[in-house]
Amino acid sequence: MAFQPDFQREVLGPRFGGQRILLVEDSRMFSAVLCHRFQNELGLVVKPCPSRGELEQILAQEGHGYSMAVVDLNLPDAPYGEALDCAIAHGIPTIVFTATFDLQTRNRILQRNVIDYVLKDNEFALDNLVAAVRKAISNTKTRVLVVDDMDSARQVLVGLLKTQQYKVVDVASGVEALAALEVHDDIEIVITDHHMPDMSGYELTRRIRHRFGSDRLRIIGISSSDDRMLSASFLKAGASDFLYRPFVTEELQCRVANNVETLAQMKQLRAAAARDYLTGLYNRRYFYDQGPKLVNDCLRRRAMGAIAILDIDHFKRLNDTYGHEIGDKVLAAVAKRLAAIFEGSENLLSRLGGEEFAILFPMMDSYAATELCDEIRAEISRLKVIADDEELSVTCSIGVAEISGYETFDNYLNAADQFLYMAKHKGRNIVYSDVKMTQEAAQ
Ligand code: GH3
Ligand code: MG
Ligand code: MG
Repeated sequence: MAFQPDFQREVLGPRFGGQRILLVEDSRMFSAVLCHRFQNELGLVVKPCPSRGELEQILAQEGHGYSMAVVDLNLPDAPYGEALDCAIAHGIPTIVFTATFDLQTRNRILQRNVIDYVLKDNEFALDNLVAAVRKAISNTKTRVLVVDDMDSARQVLVGLLKTQQYKVVDVASGVEALAALEVHDDIEIVITDHHMPDMSGYELTRRIRHRFGSDRLRIIGISSSDDRMLSASFLKAGASDFLYRPFVTEELQCRVANNVETLAQMKQLRAAAARDYLTGLYNRRYFYDQGPKLVNDCLRRRAMGAIAILDIDHFKRLNDTYGHEIGDKVLAAVAKRLAAIFEGSENLLSRLGGEEFAILFPMMDSYAATELCDEIRAEISRLKVIADDEELSVTCSIGVAEISGYETFDNYLNAADQFLYMAKHKGRNIVYSDVKMTQEAAQ
């Protein structure tokens, strides 16, 4: 298996709240460290178990309560992997943790359909084990489509993937594969045979690539053909990987895992590219990417929308007085409060840049948006930020513009910016909009 360091630790990998895992390990040191890491890094509930005797007791009492087991291959009362047999016999998906390793042991482990095995022989052993558990649990959320017209070959693939905990859909033809992709929009990996009666795997790959990019869906071709050019054809048609049969089981598993990992990393990159580093809010790029789509949806439904720009008052003065670092702290605090206000709503909040935030209110007219912005303005003015033992507060001004007809996205923002300018001109800590202007004119 792939012994990869746990890349995701730095970037807050997924957590698996409350799932229960059995840790069968006689070394107290390993057991204590692993319990701690499984709980803290993965959010798992861990049941430590130092011997085969105790394992049997636990399984007899509550055998079905565990979603996974990590089993040390050699225990004082189970020197030949009997604890592993015991976990497998109870149908618990298992990862083996072992100090001994040779070809015979490897084959012995793999014959038992374990998820993975991790060696104790290096300084990354614990990292590798945590990564393996994380990956196995993540796999339960990853859907794989297997396409092969031969039942027996297809079932072998399905079995291998299910052992790895993937959600598997299998079909016998290219046409069925395209239909399955329509039904299951969460399919991330397609493994396809080449020679099939209705459509070749190569043709299927081409058709899938018309609809899905390789950043959304990975395709692995597989074939017993002796045409050595076939792999190149597949890869050129957009396959992410290719294997000739007969393949080594572990190689297939590693290639699937690598493709899943690549997709996860791309997803993380996309998420990071959409966020502002200081505040964690969506950034200008994301706002300009998604904003026009939301406006179009809104106008197509003949609804009204509004757009606001919020700017912190005299922020330069705050920076000059307290320093940039404290300025950053205030920015982050304002952003946090805004994020809390908009959490779960359909409104799109972003940091446009500097001390300026933009909010798009689809399906809300300018009157309602002006009222809501006035509440936000009041909330921000009540916000207290502790910095250098001092309690700081800031105010903000907000310009709100109506979205009622098709214009460029920049035009909506420019209109909001004009109202913001007027709010500043009128003395700051003010919301200004067409609604306010009409109200003023009527007075
Ligand atoms: P006004 O009330 O008219 O908005 O005045 P202002 O001082 O808030 O506006 P101005 O545009 O003159 O100054 C904005 C300041 O924001 C200048 C810049 O140094 C500061 N700034 C921009 N981005 C950041 C940041 O990321 N962190 C910090 N600490 N300051 C920033
Ligand atoms: Mg400002
Ligand atoms: Mg500004």
